[in-house]
Amino acid sequence: MKSIRYKAATVRWSCSVARCDQPRMCRVRLLLLCLCVLVAMTLTLALSLANQHPEEFDLPPKPPDLIKDKLNHQPGKPTVAQVKRLISQVNWERLWYFQLRPILIQRQPGSRGSRAVRKHIFSQLDSLSAGWSVEVDSFISETPRGPVSFSNILAVLDPMAPRRLLLACHYDSKLIPSDASEPQKVFVGASDSAVPCAMMLELVTALDAHLKKHKQLMSRVTLQLVFFDGGEAFEQWSPTDSLYGSRHLAEYMSSIPHPPGSEQTTLLNAVDLLVLLDLIGAADPMFVNHFDNTARWFDRLIAAEKRLHTLGLLSSHPKEQRYFIKDMNMGPVEDDHLPFLQRGVPVLHLIATPFPSFLHTMEDTADKIHRHTVENLTKILVVFLAEYLRL
Ligand SMILES: [Zn+2]
Repeated sequence: MKSIRYKAATVRWSCSVARCDQPRMCRVRLLLLCLCVLVAMTLTLALSLANQHPEEFDLPPKPPDLIKDKLNHQPGKPTVAQVKRLISQVNWERLWYFQLRPILIQRQPGSRGSRAVRKHIFSQLDSLSAGWSVEVDSFISETPRGPVSFSNILAVLDPMAPRRLLLACHYDSKLIPSDASEPQKVFVGASDSAVPCAMMLELVTALDAHLKKHKQLMSRVTLQLVFFDGGEAFEQWSPTDSLYGSRHLAEYMSSIPHPPGSEQTTLLNAVDLLVLLDLIGAADPMFVNHFDNTARWFDRLIAAEKRLHTLGLLSSHPKEQRYFIKDMNMGPVEDDHLPFLQRGVPVLHLIATPFPSFLHTMEDTADKIHRHTVENLTKILVVFLAEYLRL
């Protein structure tokens, strides 16, 4: 049947050509030529598609290489005018009265003071225009005083960003009983670590407009704030009686696939760098670099301090390099960075060296806080964040 129909068609076609005049013949040849070109193009396209690698069509795009990307990350280079504009946003009165004061209370894990400080941090973040995703990582852990409820506060600017810069401190205060002779005097841990918490709030407030834009641009590195609970030991510092919040969070983040659905990497791999602030507030602190793998980021802090000094933008700062001192080996200090460090997260540990003389005493109060030091350090960190996040 097939061959008969073909033959009939051929015959009809021949007849038609035979009876045509000259212009009609040209049109037919043209049509034939077009048909040939069309067939040739279709064949070429089919062949080129067949030569492509099948995975380019069958699999989703390759996930970002988190490890390589964080190692290759380059900071931005803000101009003098940009630096001046950025640090002009730092407001001491706001830091002192609105961000620090409400934290200067007793705030042991699970206490009423702890809840009040959490509420304060939520309301501060909620008042910003950048749009922070805030969540509480709550859990109960056994302590020498029995089971206690802990709550880390996590605030992420863009939870969907591939990578994160973590800025952290602990917000709990150490459990230190009041003296019987002065029962009204309680331990408020101004430098340990109320001031670092207030500095973090001031940093994101000063940078609010820039962070809002940064989020809208869907940048690859975002900012995450972590306010750890349970940094302090209830009794004697030990691996089980200390760092309750950071131990829990590091474990939790190492169990969350990131990007979502990934089988190779977790939220912990997404952390470019953990910057931990602790024991800040006393006059003339010194910070040393504790880890070689983050030395280039410590160098950015040194450079920011020198640059702001040269521009005359720091107060009570007689020499260009006063706070950040490199290549002075003071040995590691156990703190909330430890559970992250042990899992391979790069760390910048900004803890005053040596510790303030009033550490873990009732004297760690607001009157020991040196305004210019806190203001200068906040300005240096504004520059650091602006460079790292390329704001
Ligand atoms: Zn402490």
